[in-house]
This record gives sequence, structure tokens and C-alpha cells, in this order.
Amino acid sequence: MALTSEEIRKIIAPLLLSGAKMLDKHCPKCGSPLFEKNGRIFCPVCEYREQQRKKEMRGIEEILMERIKILINNLPEDPGEMKEHLEIIERLIRILEHYKKLEGLE
Ligand SMILES: [Zn+2]
Repeated sequence: MALTSEEIRKIIAPLLLSGAKMLDKHCPKCGSPLFEKNGRIFCPVCEYREQQRKKEMRGIEEILMERIKILINNLPEDPGEMKEHLEIIERLIRILEHYKKLEGLE
């Protein structure tokens, strides 16, 4: 994905101000110039996007966790309804695990 002007403004400009050195190389993934700071070479845009992605994932995970907790705290007495309820909880937990796995991916 190419750089947006917002990303340049929000990521690259502050980085230059912070004393990071812009290198003559570009990130193969997003086309941003690579930077060097404290001996570390990195792509600030890919790092930023990765952080945003993780933040989003955690938001989704939190919502799922909330839903699961509410369902667990409100289990119905009726055995038929209870079974349905537990199936929904199981499904939500599976979705949650799926997101956790995605979050761990680089
Ligand atoms: Zn990049």
C-alpha cells in the first residue's frame, strides 16, 4: 500500500524532527524511505501500520471478551436455552482465538 499524505505528516515529519536519519533506501513493502536511529534501520510506516493493526485487533478482542463475559454471567436456567447459550459462547471464543493468532503474526 502506498503512503498517504497523512502518514507522511504524522510519521515521517516527526521522525525527521526527532533526529532520525533518512536513508537513501526505500521500503520494498510500502515505498517509504527507510530511517536510521540509534543504529537501527527501519521503515516507520510499516511499523506504524503494524501498531495500528494490533490496536484494532485488541479493540475487537476486548469487545468479544465483554460479550463472552456477559453471556457467561447470564446463563439461562432452561437446559435447551442453556445449550444454545453455551454454543454461542464457544463460537465467540473460537473467533477470539482466531484474532489472537492474527495479532501474533508479523
Ligand atoms: Zn514500509
